[in-house]
Amino acid sequence: MTKLSETKMWEAVAANDARYDGAFYYAVKTTGIVCRPSCKSKVPNRENVVFFTSLDEALHDGFRPCKRCRPDLGAHYRPEEDIVELACRLLRGEYHNPDILAELPERIGISFFHFQRLFKRVTGCTPKEYLRRIRIDKAAELLAHSSLNNTDICLTVGFRSVSGFYTAFRQHMGLPPKKYRKVREIGELRHDCL
Ligand SMILES: [Zn+2]
Repeated sequence: MTKLSETKMWEAVAANDARYDGAFYYAVKTTGIVCRPSCKSKVPNRENVVFFTSLDEALHDGFRPCKRCRPDLGAHYRPEEDIVELACRLLRGEYHNPDILAELPERIGISFFHFQRLFKRVTGCTPKEYLRRIRIDKAAELLAHSSLNNTDICLTVGFRSVSGFYTAFRQHMGLPPKKYRKVREIGELRHDCL
């Protein structure tokens, strides 16, 4: 790889350009912290910045890895995407817990506000919308393939109230749960006759 000029590296830092992650690191003399180019922390003053081609050199010079962009966790670590991926995994695994949404930011280790914004930016929807989609899909599955009644299904998939479940279900599926079950039954009867 051709050696990057300091101007180029500075441009990458100012733009939080993740394409340069792993290619170089920058440290800030005033804070003693070393970062990846993509770090979302405040862009430092140019005169305080030193560049390194390896993290070891920076650590050797006494700089500490940034807690936000974690340059110590490998070149391909993508902090923001990884956080959202973890959140999605937890939501998919624990959708039936009515409190999962409130618990999530703390379990992931970021503030509620930061989590909301980050999730929306990466996925295009809010954590609430994402979770609701999962719950409705599970409810639809149970309506089609189990004999549980609406209240049981509502609680099983993590809704707190039956009315909330009804409204959400209708919004997403275009018809109420009972009707959905009936339509699915008829659909399957037809399928069996063919
Ligand atoms: Zn950083």
